[in-house]
Amino acid sequence: MPESSGNLAKPTILVVEDEAPLLTLLRYNLEKQGFRVEEAADGQEALLRVAEAKPDLILLDWMLPALSGLEVCRQIRRRPATRDLPIIMVTARTEDQDAVRALDTGADDYIAKPFAMEALLARIRALLRRSGAVPVKGRLVWQDVVMDQDAHRVTRGGRALHLGPTEYRLLEFFLQHPGRVFSREQLLDAVWGRDIHVEPRTVDVHIRRLRKAVNGDGEGDVIRTVRSAGYALDVE
Ligand code: CA
Repeated sequence: MPESSGNLAKPTILVVEDEAPLLTLLRYNLEKQGFRVEEAADGQEALLRVAEAKPDLILLDWMLPALSGLEVCRQIRRRPATRDLPIIMVTARTEDQDAVRALDTGADDYIAKPFAMEALLARIRALLRRSGAVPVKGRLVWQDVVMDQDAHRVTRGGRALHLGPTEYRLLEFFLQHPGRVFSREQLLDAVWGRDIHVEPRTVDVHIRRLRKAVNGDGEGDVIRTVRSAGYALDVE
């Protein structure tokens, strides 16, 4: 399992938006999620910024003064240096054919205004992951269990859970593969690492601790024991 590193450079997002209040709101939310934010208020400035320093992703408003978002997108795609730059087009128009036009012009994804911030953040993370440019962490959710990987916090039904480091990594691994059954050996490989010799029954100990931490009074067990096979994040 890829380990997270605290000193990785923050992914940079260039936000191209001519509405100042929306720009402020986007900056606030993106920075809160651990992104570095660059701004451009029109299409020309956007192209200059991209030429200066390539961001990891562009959030590109369609309706911009002078040079439209579509034209900016076209020009970015034309340059070999920026051909693969991830672009999410933001449109105030909801017609399907606008979405098609945005994608035809080279945008990787689009979102229509008004949008929910969570939906936008999910798309940004998904696109950054797909582009493979930067490792992105985020939120893992399964039923009422939520893991905030940036804040390193886990809740169940809104209640904060206190997990040891091994239990945290176990749960993280399960949340990444909900419903799948893993043998003790597979869990050892994924969570402890291949080179470390640990008795398979050590897994049982940590599963027990994980259950104790996650399952509150009256709450269902989130870990399913599969006889002679292993464990899964699943309901019985
Ligand atoms: Ca606009």
